[in-house]
Amino acid sequence: TVGAVALDKNGNVAAATSTGGMTNKKYGRIGDSSIIGAGTYANNATCAVSCTGHGEPFLRAVSAYDISCLMEYKGLSLEEASNYLIHEKMKQTHLQGEGGLIAIDTTGNISIAFNTVGMYRGYRRSGEKEHIALYKPNEMPA
Ligand code: ASP
Repeated sequence: TVGAVALDKNGNVAAATSTGGMTNKKYGRIGDSSIIGAGTYANNATCAVSCTGHGEPFLRAVSAYDISCLMEYKGLSLEEASNYLIHEKMKQTHLQGEGGLIAIDTTGNISIAFNTVGMYRGYRRSGEKEHIALYKPNEMPA
C-alpha cells in the first residue's frame, strides 16, 4: 500500500491510498484502502488519514473516519486519536488489526502510528528537508 496525506496553504486536507491488496487475497476482495472512511478519509474540519495493514479490521472499525470523529466529537488531538485507534482499539477481540496509518490535521500536525514491526514512511514540511525512515519501534528517534 502507498498512502499520502496533504495539507495545502488554504487549510484543505486530502488523503489518497493505493494498494494491491493482501497477498493471496480472495478473488473479488475489496480491502479498506478504496473505501472512504475505512482506509482513506479527509475532512477539512479535522484531518486526513491513510491506513495500511489488514484491511478487514480497518473496515470494521471504519478507522480513518473514526479518527476524524474522535477529534471532532470527543476533542482528541490527532496524535491521541491515531494512537487510540492503532494501539487500543485495534486490540479489541473483534478487530485484532495489524497495521498503521499516516495522518495530518488542518493545522499541520503529523501523526504516524503503527503496531507492526516497522512501516516505511516519510514527510516533508514546506521549507524543510524531507524525513524518510523505516524504524522499528525500539529504534524510534526521540
Ligand atoms: N490494507 C490493504 C488491504 O487490506 C493492504 C495493505 O495495506 O497492504 O487491502
